[in-house]
Amino acid sequence: MIVDTHAHLNTPDFHDDLDEVLARARQFGVTKTIVIGMNESANHQAIEMARNHDMLFASVGVHPADVDHETTAHLKHLVREKEVVAIGECGIDLYWRKDNLDTQRRVFIEQIELAVQTGLPLIIHTRNSFPEAYACLLPYRGRVKGVFHCFSAGLDDARRALDLGFHIGIGGPVTFPKSYELTRVVRETDLSWLLVETDSPYLAPHPYRGKRNEPGYTIHVATAIAAIKGISVEEVARQTTHNAHQLFQLGGNKT
Ligand SMILES: [Zn+2]
Repeated sequence: MIVDTHAHLNTPDFHDDLDEVLARARQFGVTKTIVIGMNESANHQAIEMARNHDMLFASVGVHPADVDHETTAHLKHLVREKEVVAIGECGIDLYWRKDNLDTQRRVFIEQIELAVQTGLPLIIHTRNSFPEAYACLLPYRGRVKGVFHCFSAGLDDARRALDLGFHIGIGGPVTFPKSYELTRVVRETDLSWLLVETDSPYLAPHPYRGKRNEPGYTIHVATAIAAIKGISVEEVARQTTHNAHQLFQLGGNKT
């Protein structure tokens, strides 16, 4: 059993063959997947999909790429839905844009506050922006939990994330041949703080690099982690599934 903790199945890429994608995921042992919202319409779609498929859960949030034309006002209604297990993805991205950092920060902090109020975990996106996101979270240390999804920062930042009480989400890049720093992060981080994910349809693992990603490919991420840590894939699957169930309360909310 494996949980894909991060998939954008609510994008047009999965419009035509979602049922086949989910059937393939189950064949690979991926029994649960969290569908990630990024803006109001994608958030509604994520909840709708979670309603229609037992194996799917929803996360609702406003992505840093959407902060100029979206607000967080709708989230306070959506977080009450029983399919919603997290807030996000949210965070800060300084790869695409630097000029609206103040807006990114404000919208991120609004979602941190909502996580504190609701007790829901945060799913955090950072890109070239770990220090900025960390600074937003630090005042809330001990009152909020979550995951830095598709972690791409270095070992020092991984330690800061763990010190905040956050999990580290590992995605397809761990399977790439030159992922030296990520390999170090995986090796040095206790398995009880790792989650596995795909970020479908993006960031497909080797040997599907450049193609559409899908939840079943989480097995390749788990396999890479097992190789780095010198343990079995079953152990990685068992522990990361346990971690995901603990953090997101999967199963309890929906049924
Ligand atoms: Zn994502």
